Amino acid sequence: MTDKKGRVALIGAGPGDSGLFTLRGRELLEAADCVVYDRLVGDGVLAMMPPSAEKISVGKCGGVHSVPQREIENILVREAQKGRFVVRLKGGDPFLFGRGGEEIEALIRGGIAFEVVPGVTSALAGPACAGIPVTHRGVARSVHIITAHTKEGGIARVDYEALARLGGTLVFLMGAMAVAEICEALLRAGMAEDTRAAAVENASMAAQRLIPGTLAALPSACAEQGLKSPALIVVGEAAAFAESFAWKRFLPLAGRKIIVTRPRERSGRLSAMLRARGAEVVELPCISTRRIRAGLPDFSEYGWLGFTSVTGVEAFFELLAENGRDIRSVGAAKIAAIGPATAGALRERGLLTDYMPELYDGLHLARGIAELARGEAALLLRAKNGSPELTVELKALGVRFTELPLYETIYEKAEIIPREADTAIFTSASTVRGFKAAMPELEIKLACCIGEQTAAEARRAGFERIITAPTATLESLVNTLEENAI
Ligand code: SAH
Repeated sequence: MTDKKGRVALIGAGPGDSGLFTLRGRELLEAADCVVYDRLVGDGVLAMMPPSAEKISVGKCGGVHSVPQREIENILVREAQKGRFVVRLKGGDPFLFGRGGEEIEALIRGGIAFEVVPGVTSALAGPACAGIPVTHRGVARSVHIITAHTKEGGIARVDYEALARLGGTLVFLMGAMAVAEICEALLRAGMAEDTRAAAVENASMAAQRLIPGTLAALPSACAEQGLKSPALIVVGEAAAFAESFAWKRFLPLAGRKIIVTRPRERSGRLSAMLRARGAEVVELPCISTRRIRAGLPDFSEYGWLGFTSVTGVEAFFELLAENGRDIRSVGAAKIAAIGPATAGALRERGLLTDYMPELYDGLHLARGIAELARGEAALLLRAKNGSPELTVELKALGVRFTELPLYETIYEKAEIIPREADTAIFTSASTVRGFKAAMPELEIKLACCIGEQTAAEARRAGFERIITAPTATLESLVNTLEENAI
Protein backbone atom coordinates (compact mmCIF):
# COMPACT_ATOMS: atom_id res chain seq x y z
CA MET A 1 0.00 0.00 0.00
CA THR A 2 1.10 3.51 -0.74
CA ASP A 3 -0.17 6.94 0.20
CA LYS A 4 -1.05 7.68 -3.42
CA LYS A 5 -4.77 7.26 -3.94
CA GLY A 6 -5.60 4.68 -6.53
CA ARG A 7 -8.58 4.98 -8.82
CA VAL A 8 -10.35 3.11 -11.56
CA ALA A 9 -11.71 4.24 -14.93
CA LEU A 10 -14.31 2.00 -16.47
CA ILE A 11 -13.91 2.62 -20.17
CA GLY A 12 -15.93 1.47 -23.15
CA ALA A 13 -13.54 0.46 -25.94
CA GLY A 14 -16.13 0.50 -28.72
CA PRO A 15 -17.02 -2.33 -31.08
CA GLY A 16 -13.47 -3.17 -32.16
CA ASP A 17 -12.04 -0.70 -34.64
CA SER A 18 -9.71 1.68 -32.82
CA GLY A 19 -11.19 4.63 -34.72
CA LEU A 20 -14.39 4.11 -32.73
CA PHE A 21 -12.61 4.38 -29.39
CA THR A 22 -13.36 7.73 -27.74
CA LEU A 23 -10.80 10.51 -27.28
CA ARG A 24 -11.49 10.55 -23.54
CA GLY A 25 -10.93 6.80 -23.40
CA ARG A 26 -7.62 7.08 -25.18
CA GLU A 27 -6.43 9.93 -22.96
CA LEU A 28 -7.07 7.91 -19.82
CA LEU A 29 -5.72 4.67 -21.29
CA GLU A 30 -2.43 6.39 -22.05
CA ALA A 31 -2.13 7.36 -18.39
CA ALA A 32 -2.90 3.89 -17.00
CA ASP A 33 -0.60 2.06 -14.60
CA CYS A 34 -2.58 -1.11 -15.05
CA VAL A 35 -5.10 -2.21 -17.70
CA VAL A 36 -7.66 -4.95 -17.11
CA TYR A 37 -9.19 -5.88 -20.45
CA ASP A 38 -11.76 -8.13 -22.06
CA ARG A 39 -11.59 -10.35 -25.08
CA LEU A 40 -13.94 -8.13 -27.09
CA VAL A 41 -11.59 -5.15 -27.02
CA GLY A 42 -10.14 -4.67 -30.51
CA ASP A 43 -6.48 -5.28 -31.30
CA GLY A 44 -6.04 -1.67 -32.43
CA VAL A 45 -7.23 -0.42 -29.03
CA LEU A 46 -5.11 -2.95 -27.15
CA ALA A 47 -2.10 -1.71 -29.11
CA MET A 48 -2.69 1.73 -27.54
CA MET A 49 -1.98 0.44 -24.05
CA PRO A 50 1.10 2.21 -22.76
CA PRO A 51 4.21 0.01 -22.83
CA SER A 52 4.82 0.72 -19.14
CA ALA A 53 1.38 -0.43 -17.95
CA GLU A 54 0.75 -3.84 -16.47
CA LYS A 55 -1.72 -5.70 -18.67
CA ILE A 56 -4.19 -8.17 -17.22
CA SER A 57 -6.39 -10.12 -19.62
CA VAL A 58 -9.60 -11.35 -18.03
CA GLY A 59 -11.35 -12.47 -21.21
CA LYS A 60 -11.81 -15.89 -22.66
CA CYS A 61 -9.26 -16.57 -25.33
CA GLY A 62 -8.32 -19.67 -27.30
CA GLY A 63 -10.53 -21.94 -25.21
CA VAL A 64 -9.12 -20.72 -21.91
CA HIS A 65 -11.99 -19.68 -19.68
CA SER A 66 -12.50 -16.12 -18.63
CA VAL A 67 -11.78 -14.93 -15.14
CA PRO A 68 -14.98 -15.08 -13.01
CA GLN A 69 -16.73 -11.76 -12.46
CA ARG A 70 -16.04 -11.68 -8.69
CA GLU A 71 -12.36 -12.22 -9.35
CA ILE A 72 -12.29 -9.34 -11.87
CA GLU A 73 -13.85 -7.11 -9.23
CA ASN A 74 -11.23 -8.21 -6.71
CA ILE A 75 -8.44 -7.44 -9.17
CA LEU A 76 -9.78 -3.91 -9.73
CA VAL A 77 -10.00 -3.20 -6.01
CA ARG A 78 -6.63 -4.80 -5.26
CA GLU A 79 -4.75 -2.90 -7.99
CA ALA A 80 -6.35 0.43 -7.08
CA GLN A 81 -5.46 -0.13 -3.42
CA LYS A 82 -1.82 -0.24 -4.49
CA GLY A 83 -2.25 3.42 -5.41
CA ARG A 84 -2.44 2.74 -9.11
CA PHE A 85 -4.54 4.25 -11.85
CA VAL A 86 -6.42 1.23 -13.15
CA VAL A 87 -8.18 1.23 -16.50
CA ARG A 88 -10.90 -1.35 -16.93
CA LEU A 89 -11.41 -1.72 -20.70
CA LYS A 90 -14.61 -3.30 -21.88
CA GLY A 91 -16.02 -3.95 -25.34
CA GLY A 92 -18.66 -1.51 -26.58
CA ASP A 93 -20.26 0.50 -23.80
CA PRO A 94 -19.40 -0.57 -20.24
CA PHE A 95 -22.97 -0.39 -18.99
CA LEU A 96 -24.69 -2.24 -21.81
CA PHE A 97 -24.60 -5.95 -21.00
CA GLY A 98 -21.09 -5.36 -19.76
CA ARG A 99 -21.59 -5.96 -16.05
CA GLY A 100 -20.07 -2.54 -15.51
CA GLY A 101 -22.56 -1.83 -12.74
CA GLU A 102 -21.38 -4.79 -10.71
CA GLU A 103 -17.80 -3.60 -10.94
CA ILE A 104 -18.81 -0.12 -9.79
CA GLU A 105 -20.63 -1.63 -6.80
CA ALA A 106 -17.47 -3.50 -5.87
CA LEU A 107 -15.43 -0.28 -6.13
CA ILE A 108 -17.93 1.53 -3.89
CA ARG A 109 -17.66 -1.29 -1.33
CA GLY A 110 -13.88 -0.98 -1.51
CA GLY A 111 -13.97 2.81 -1.13
CA ILE A 112 -12.23 3.33 -4.47
CA ALA A 113 -12.74 6.45 -6.61
CA PHE A 114 -13.93 5.77 -10.12
CA GLU A 115 -15.11 7.29 -13.36
CA VAL A 116 -16.97 5.94 -16.35
CA VAL A 117 -16.23 6.63 -20.00
CA PRO A 118 -19.11 5.63 -22.26
CA GLY A 119 -18.26 3.64 -25.32
CA VAL A 120 -19.73 3.23 -28.78
CA THR A 121 -21.94 0.21 -28.29
CA SER A 122 -21.90 -2.62 -30.80
CA ALA A 123 -25.69 -2.67 -30.54
CA LEU A 124 -25.81 0.58 -32.53
CA ALA A 125 -22.42 0.60 -34.26
CA GLY A 126 -22.89 -2.96 -35.54
CA PRO A 127 -25.97 -2.15 -37.58
CA ALA A 128 -24.47 1.22 -38.64
CA CYS A 129 -21.27 -0.40 -39.88
CA ALA A 130 -23.36 -2.78 -41.96
CA GLY A 131 -25.48 0.04 -43.39
CA ILE A 132 -28.58 -0.63 -41.25
CA PRO A 133 -30.21 2.51 -39.82
CA VAL A 134 -31.85 1.25 -36.62
CA THR A 135 -34.57 3.84 -37.01
CA HIS A 136 -35.81 5.16 -40.31
CA ARG A 137 -38.77 7.36 -41.17
CA GLY A 138 -41.74 5.24 -42.02
CA VAL A 139 -39.91 1.99 -41.31
CA ALA A 140 -38.85 1.82 -37.67
CA ARG A 141 -39.65 4.32 -34.94
CA SER A 142 -37.89 2.61 -32.07
CA VAL A 143 -34.96 0.33 -31.39
CA HIS A 144 -34.78 -2.30 -28.66
CA ILE A 145 -31.67 -3.99 -27.42
CA ILE A 146 -32.04 -7.45 -25.98
CA THR A 147 -29.64 -10.03 -24.64
CA ALA A 148 -30.20 -13.59 -25.69
CA HIS A 149 -28.21 -14.90 -22.74
CA THR A 150 -28.66 -14.74 -19.02
CA LYS A 151 -25.97 -14.14 -16.43
CA GLU A 152 -25.76 -17.88 -15.91
CA GLY A 153 -25.10 -18.54 -19.59
CA GLY A 154 -28.53 -19.97 -20.48
CA ILE A 155 -31.01 -18.62 -22.99
CA ALA A 156 -32.76 -15.64 -21.44
CA ARG A 157 -36.47 -15.73 -20.81
CA VAL A 158 -37.67 -12.99 -23.07
CA ASP A 159 -41.22 -11.78 -23.57
CA TYR A 160 -41.22 -12.36 -27.33
CA GLU A 161 -44.94 -11.50 -27.60
CA ALA A 162 -44.19 -8.04 -26.30
CA LEU A 163 -41.23 -7.66 -28.67
CA ALA A 164 -43.32 -8.83 -31.63
CA ARG A 165 -45.85 -6.08 -30.91
CA LEU A 166 -43.31 -3.25 -30.70
CA GLY A 167 -42.82 -2.80 -34.42
CA GLY A 168 -39.35 -1.29 -33.99
CA THR A 169 -35.93 -2.68 -34.80
CA LEU A 170 -34.83 -5.47 -32.48
CA VAL A 171 -31.13 -5.94 -31.79
CA PHE A 172 -30.07 -9.13 -30.04
CA LEU A 173 -26.64 -9.34 -28.46
CA MET A 174 -24.88 -12.53 -27.41
CA GLY A 175 -27.04 -14.46 -29.81
CA ALA A 176 -24.61 -16.02 -32.30
CA MET A 177 -25.35 -19.46 -30.93
CA ALA A 178 -29.08 -18.85 -30.57
CA VAL A 179 -30.18 -17.49 -33.95
CA ALA A 180 -32.64 -20.33 -34.49
CA GLU A 181 -34.18 -19.98 -31.01
CA ILE A 182 -34.60 -16.23 -31.41
CA CYS A 183 -36.14 -16.41 -34.89
CA GLU A 184 -38.47 -19.28 -33.99
CA ALA A 185 -39.65 -17.56 -30.84
CA LEU A 186 -40.45 -14.38 -32.77
CA LEU A 187 -42.36 -16.38 -35.38
CA ARG A 188 -44.33 -18.15 -32.65
CA ALA A 189 -45.07 -14.75 -31.17
CA GLY A 190 -46.75 -13.81 -34.42
CA MET A 191 -44.14 -12.02 -36.50
CA ALA A 192 -44.31 -12.65 -40.26
CA GLU A 193 -41.95 -15.16 -41.84
CA ASP A 194 -40.70 -12.63 -44.35
CA THR A 195 -39.76 -10.07 -41.68
CA ARG A 196 -36.26 -8.91 -42.56
CA ALA A 197 -33.45 -10.08 -40.30
CA ALA A 198 -29.67 -10.04 -40.50
CA ALA A 199 -26.62 -11.14 -38.55
CA VAL A 200 -23.62 -8.82 -38.28
CA GLU A 201 -20.38 -10.54 -37.29
CA ASN A 202 -17.19 -8.72 -36.21
CA ALA A 203 -18.79 -5.35 -36.78
CA SER A 204 -16.41 -2.43 -37.47
CA MET A 205 -13.44 -4.75 -37.92
CA ALA A 206 -11.76 -5.99 -41.09
CA ALA A 207 -13.48 -9.35 -40.66
CA GLN A 208 -16.94 -7.74 -40.61
CA ARG A 209 -19.54 -9.93 -42.27
CA LEU A 210 -23.24 -9.54 -42.91
CA ILE A 211 -25.57 -12.46 -43.29
CA PRO A 212 -28.89 -11.17 -44.61
CA GLY A 213 -32.19 -13.01 -44.51
CA THR A 214 -35.69 -13.14 -43.10
CA LEU A 215 -36.99 -14.58 -39.84
CA ALA A 216 -37.70 -17.81 -41.70
CA ALA A 217 -34.41 -18.00 -43.61
CA LEU A 218 -31.79 -16.50 -41.30
CA PRO A 219 -31.17 -19.56 -39.06
CA SER A 220 -30.20 -21.83 -41.94
CA ALA A 221 -28.18 -19.06 -43.63
CA CYS A 222 -26.21 -18.54 -40.41
CA ALA A 223 -25.69 -22.27 -39.95
CA GLU A 224 -24.50 -22.70 -43.55
CA GLN A 225 -22.16 -19.73 -43.42
CA GLY A 226 -20.85 -20.63 -39.99
CA LEU A 227 -21.78 -17.52 -38.02
CA LYS A 228 -19.32 -16.95 -35.20
CA SER A 229 -19.16 -14.74 -32.13
CA PRO A 230 -19.07 -11.77 -31.72
CA ALA A 231 -22.22 -11.23 -33.69
CA LEU A 232 -25.52 -9.51 -33.26
CA ILE A 233 -28.88 -10.20 -34.81
CA VAL A 234 -30.99 -7.38 -36.22
CA VAL A 235 -34.69 -8.02 -36.78
CA GLY A 236 -37.02 -5.61 -38.56
CA GLU A 237 -37.61 -4.02 -41.94
CA ALA A 238 -34.72 -1.58 -41.44
CA ALA A 239 -32.38 -4.54 -42.02
CA ALA A 240 -33.32 -4.38 -45.71
CA PHE A 241 -31.27 -1.18 -46.10
CA ALA A 242 -28.03 -3.10 -45.62
CA GLU A 243 -28.04 -3.90 -49.32
CA SER A 244 -28.03 -0.33 -50.60
CA PHE A 245 -26.41 1.42 -47.59
CA ALA A 246 -23.37 -0.87 -47.37
CA TRP A 247 -20.92 2.02 -47.30
CA LYS A 248 -17.69 0.08 -46.86
CA ARG A 249 -17.71 -0.72 -50.57
CA PHE A 250 -16.55 2.85 -51.25
CA LEU A 251 -13.39 2.37 -49.19
CA PRO A 252 -10.61 0.66 -51.13
CA LEU A 253 -8.94 -0.98 -48.12
CA ALA A 254 -12.10 -2.04 -46.26
CA GLY A 255 -11.83 -5.63 -45.08
CA ARG A 256 -8.06 -5.40 -44.70
CA LYS A 257 -6.35 -5.74 -41.34
CA ILE A 258 -2.94 -4.19 -41.52
CA ILE A 259 -0.09 -4.21 -39.04
CA VAL A 260 2.10 -1.13 -39.01
CA THR A 261 5.53 -2.11 -37.73
CA ARG A 262 7.49 1.13 -37.83
CA PRO A 263 8.56 2.96 -34.67
CA ARG A 264 5.69 4.41 -32.67
CA GLU A 265 6.61 8.02 -33.30
CA ARG A 266 6.71 7.40 -37.05
CA SER A 267 3.52 5.40 -37.52
CA GLY A 268 0.89 8.14 -37.19
CA ARG A 269 0.77 9.40 -40.77
CA LEU A 270 0.87 5.96 -42.35
CA SER A 271 -1.86 4.64 -40.05
CA ALA A 272 -4.05 7.65 -40.78
CA MET A 273 -3.65 7.10 -44.54
CA LEU A 274 -4.64 3.44 -44.17
CA ARG A 275 -7.62 4.19 -41.92
CA ALA A 276 -8.84 6.85 -44.30
CA ARG A 277 -9.11 4.09 -46.90
CA GLY A 278 -11.10 1.85 -44.58
CA ALA A 279 -8.43 -0.52 -43.27
CA GLU A 280 -8.39 -1.80 -39.70
CA VAL A 281 -4.96 -0.75 -38.47
CA VAL A 282 -2.95 -2.20 -35.61
CA GLU A 283 0.14 -0.27 -34.64
CA LEU A 284 2.71 -2.72 -33.36
CA PRO A 285 6.07 -1.02 -33.40
CA CYS A 286 8.64 -3.76 -33.97
CA ILE A 287 11.60 -1.43 -33.60
CA SER A 288 12.46 1.73 -31.74
CA THR A 289 15.48 3.96 -31.92
CA ARG A 290 17.89 5.14 -29.23
CA ARG A 291 20.29 8.04 -29.47
CA ILE A 292 24.00 7.35 -29.40
CA ARG A 293 26.17 9.98 -27.78
CA ALA A 294 28.71 11.43 -30.19
CA GLY A 295 31.14 14.32 -30.26
CA LEU A 296 30.54 17.26 -32.56
CA PRO A 297 32.47 16.71 -35.79
CA ASP A 298 34.55 19.37 -37.49
CA PHE A 299 32.24 20.18 -40.38
CA SER A 300 34.87 22.14 -42.26
CA GLU A 301 36.53 18.85 -43.16
CA TYR A 302 33.56 17.78 -45.25
CA GLY A 303 32.15 18.89 -48.57
CA TRP A 304 28.94 16.87 -48.08
CA LEU A 305 26.68 15.82 -45.24
CA GLY A 306 24.59 12.74 -46.01
CA PHE A 307 21.23 12.03 -44.28
CA THR A 308 19.36 8.77 -44.74
CA SER A 309 16.39 9.06 -42.35
CA VAL A 310 14.16 11.47 -40.46
CA THR A 311 15.46 9.94 -37.22
CA GLY A 312 19.02 10.78 -38.33
CA VAL A 313 18.02 14.39 -38.98
CA GLU A 314 16.38 14.69 -35.57
CA ALA A 315 19.39 13.16 -33.85
CA PHE A 316 21.72 15.50 -35.71
CA PHE A 317 19.85 18.58 -34.52
CA GLU A 318 19.83 17.24 -30.97
CA LEU A 319 23.59 16.84 -31.24
CA LEU A 320 23.96 20.45 -32.40
CA ALA A 321 21.72 21.70 -29.59
CA GLU A 322 23.55 19.70 -26.94
CA ASN A 323 26.73 21.43 -28.04
CA GLY A 324 25.15 24.86 -28.01
CA ARG A 325 25.31 25.13 -31.80
CA ASP A 326 22.88 25.74 -34.64
CA ILE A 327 22.81 25.24 -38.40
CA ARG A 328 25.51 27.83 -39.03
CA SER A 329 28.01 25.24 -37.80
CA VAL A 330 27.43 23.29 -40.99
CA GLY A 331 29.17 26.08 -42.88
CA ALA A 332 29.63 25.52 -46.58
CA ALA A 333 28.98 21.78 -46.56
CA LYS A 334 26.37 20.64 -49.05
CA ILE A 335 23.43 18.50 -47.98
CA ALA A 336 22.38 15.17 -49.49
CA ALA A 337 19.15 13.45 -48.44
CA ILE A 338 18.00 9.97 -49.37
CA GLY A 339 14.37 10.89 -50.08
CA PRO A 340 11.59 13.43 -49.65
CA ALA A 341 10.73 12.63 -46.01
CA THR A 342 14.34 13.18 -44.93
CA ALA A 343 14.62 16.30 -47.10
CA GLY A 344 11.36 17.54 -45.54
CA ALA A 345 12.69 17.06 -42.00
CA LEU A 346 15.82 19.05 -42.94
CA ARG A 347 13.78 21.81 -44.54
CA GLU A 348 11.60 22.14 -41.44
CA ARG A 349 14.75 22.83 -39.50
CA GLY A 350 16.10 25.35 -41.97
CA LEU A 351 18.40 23.26 -44.16
CA LEU A 352 17.72 22.88 -47.86
CA THR A 353 18.81 19.74 -49.66
CA ASP A 354 21.36 20.10 -52.46
CA TYR A 355 21.03 16.57 -53.72
CA MET A 356 18.35 13.90 -53.55
CA PRO A 357 18.56 10.83 -55.81
CA GLU A 358 15.82 9.94 -58.25
CA LEU A 359 15.49 6.53 -56.62
CA TYR A 360 15.32 6.88 -52.85
CA ASP A 361 17.89 4.31 -51.77
CA GLY A 362 21.44 4.07 -50.51
CA LEU A 363 22.87 2.91 -53.80
CA HIS A 364 21.63 5.91 -55.74
CA LEU A 365 22.49 8.31 -52.94
CA ALA A 366 26.10 7.01 -53.09
CA ARG A 367 26.26 7.45 -56.87
CA GLY A 368 24.94 11.00 -56.68
CA ILE A 369 27.41 12.00 -53.97
CA ALA A 370 30.26 10.39 -55.92
CA GLU A 371 29.38 12.38 -59.00
CA LEU A 372 29.05 15.71 -57.21
CA ALA A 373 31.71 15.46 -54.49
CA ARG A 374 34.75 15.52 -56.76
CA GLY A 375 37.34 14.65 -54.18
CA GLU A 376 35.57 16.25 -51.20
CA ALA A 377 34.89 14.04 -48.20
CA ALA A 378 31.38 13.12 -47.06
CA LEU A 379 30.04 12.80 -43.51
CA LEU A 380 27.23 10.27 -43.08
CA LEU A 381 24.90 11.05 -40.18
CA ARG A 382 22.92 7.90 -39.72
CA ALA A 383 22.19 4.74 -37.74
CA LYS A 384 24.80 2.51 -36.23
CA ASN A 385 24.95 -0.60 -38.41
CA GLY A 386 23.06 1.21 -41.16
CA SER A 387 22.56 -0.68 -44.38
CA PRO A 388 25.88 -1.36 -46.12
CA GLU A 389 24.75 -0.56 -49.66
CA LEU A 390 25.50 3.15 -49.23
CA THR A 391 29.01 2.69 -47.85
CA VAL A 392 29.95 -0.22 -50.14
CA GLU A 393 29.07 1.86 -53.18
CA LEU A 394 30.86 4.98 -51.89
CA LYS A 395 33.97 2.89 -51.34
CA ALA A 396 33.69 1.32 -54.79
CA LEU A 397 33.45 4.77 -56.33
CA GLY A 398 36.45 6.05 -54.39
CA VAL A 399 34.61 8.62 -52.24
CA ARG A 400 36.26 9.51 -48.92
CA PHE A 401 33.69 9.36 -46.15
CA THR A 402 33.23 9.15 -42.39
CA GLU A 403 30.27 7.53 -40.66
CA LEU A 404 28.93 9.21 -37.55
CA PRO A 405 26.43 6.84 -35.91
CA LEU A 406 23.80 8.95 -34.15
CA TYR A 407 21.26 6.32 -33.16
CA GLU A 408 20.74 2.62 -33.00
CA THR A 409 17.80 0.38 -33.70
CA ILE A 410 16.32 -1.72 -30.93
CA TYR A 411 13.95 -4.61 -31.50
CA GLU A 412 10.74 -4.31 -29.51
CA LYS A 413 8.97 -7.12 -27.71
CA ALA A 414 5.31 -7.42 -28.68
CA GLU A 415 3.10 -7.68 -25.62
CA ILE A 416 -0.12 -7.96 -27.54
CA ILE A 417 -0.11 -10.15 -30.60
CA PRO A 418 -3.14 -9.82 -32.82
CA ARG A 419 -5.31 -12.87 -33.30
CA GLU A 420 -4.95 -12.52 -37.03
CA ALA A 421 -4.04 -10.01 -39.73
CA ASP A 422 -3.69 -10.18 -43.48
CA THR A 423 -0.97 -7.65 -44.18
CA ALA A 424 2.13 -6.23 -42.54
CA ILE A 425 3.85 -3.08 -43.74
CA PHE A 426 7.61 -2.87 -43.61
CA THR A 427 9.38 0.42 -44.06
CA SER A 428 12.89 -0.89 -43.44
CA ALA A 429 14.74 -4.18 -43.30
CA SER A 430 15.00 -3.79 -39.52
CA THR A 431 11.20 -3.73 -39.18
CA VAL A 432 11.10 -7.12 -40.95
CA ARG A 433 13.65 -8.57 -38.53
CA GLY A 434 11.83 -6.99 -35.57
CA PHE A 435 8.49 -8.40 -36.71
CA LYS A 436 9.84 -11.92 -37.07
CA ALA A 437 11.49 -11.72 -33.65
CA ALA A 438 8.39 -10.31 -31.93
CA MET A 439 5.68 -12.49 -33.50
CA PRO A 440 7.21 -15.52 -35.19
CA GLU A 441 3.92 -17.41 -35.03
CA LEU A 442 1.67 -14.83 -36.68
CA GLU A 443 0.97 -15.80 -40.26
CA ILE A 444 0.17 -13.00 -42.63
CA LYS A 445 -0.78 -13.23 -46.27
CA LEU A 446 1.03 -10.22 -47.61
CA ALA A 447 4.21 -8.33 -46.79
CA CYS A 448 4.17 -4.83 -48.24
CA CYS A 449 7.66 -3.32 -48.46
CA ILE A 450 8.90 0.17 -49.11
CA GLY A 451 11.96 -0.71 -51.17
CA GLU A 452 14.07 -3.44 -52.72
CA GLN A 453 16.28 -3.90 -49.68
CA THR A 454 13.30 -4.29 -47.38
CA ALA A 455 11.75 -6.74 -49.83
CA ALA A 456 14.97 -8.76 -49.93
CA GLU A 457 14.84 -9.04 -46.11
CA ALA A 458 11.17 -10.10 -46.36
CA ARG A 459 12.16 -12.84 -48.82
CA ARG A 460 14.84 -14.03 -46.41
CA ALA A 461 12.23 -14.05 -43.64
CA GLY A 462 10.12 -16.39 -45.77
CA PHE A 463 6.99 -14.32 -46.39
CA GLU A 464 4.77 -16.00 -48.92
CA ARG A 465 3.70 -12.98 -50.91
CA ILE A 466 5.73 -9.80 -51.06
CA ILE A 467 4.90 -6.58 -52.85
CA THR A 468 7.19 -3.59 -53.17
CA ALA A 469 6.27 0.06 -53.56
CA PRO A 470 7.91 1.44 -56.73
CA THR A 471 8.91 4.63 -54.89
CA ALA A 472 10.10 4.82 -51.31
CA THR A 473 7.27 7.04 -50.08
CA LEU A 474 4.22 6.33 -47.95
CA GLU A 475 1.93 7.44 -50.79
CA SER A 476 3.46 4.89 -53.14
CA LEU A 477 3.22 2.23 -50.43
CA VAL A 478 -0.48 2.84 -49.88
CA ASN A 479 -1.20 2.89 -53.65
CA THR A 480 0.60 -0.41 -54.04
CA LEU A 481 -1.53 -1.89 -51.27
CA GLU A 482 -4.69 -0.72 -52.99
CA GLU A 483 -3.62 -2.28 -56.27
CA ASN A 484 -2.90 -5.65 -54.70
CA ALA A 485 -6.00 -7.30 -53.32
CA ILE A 486 -5.56 -10.33 -51.10
N1 SAH B 1 -20.94 -3.88 -23.84
C1 SAH B 1 -20.95 -4.42 -25.15
C2 SAH B 1 -21.77 -5.67 -25.26
C3 SAH B 1 -21.25 -6.81 -24.45
S1 SAH B 1 -22.16 -8.26 -24.68
C4 SAH B 1 -21.41 -3.36 -26.15
O1 SAH B 1 -21.89 -2.31 -25.74
O2 SAH B 1 -21.22 -3.56 -27.36
C5 SAH B 1 -21.23 -9.07 -25.93
C6 SAH B 1 -22.01 -9.11 -27.21
O3 SAH B 1 -21.89 -7.87 -27.90
C7 SAH B 1 -21.52 -10.14 -28.20
O4 SAH B 1 -22.00 -11.41 -27.91
C8 SAH B 1 -22.11 -9.60 -29.48
O5 SAH B 1 -23.46 -9.89 -29.58
C9 SAH B 1 -22.00 -8.12 -29.28
N2 SAH B 1 -20.78 -7.57 -29.93
C10 SAH B 1 -19.75 -6.95 -29.33
N3 SAH B 1 -18.85 -6.54 -30.24
C11 SAH B 1 -19.35 -6.88 -31.45
C12 SAH B 1 -18.90 -6.73 -32.77
N4 SAH B 1 -17.75 -6.12 -33.06
N5 SAH B 1 -19.67 -7.22 -33.78
C13 SAH B 1 -20.85 -7.83 -33.52
N6 SAH B 1 -21.31 -8.01 -32.28
C14 SAH B 1 -20.58 -7.55 -31.25
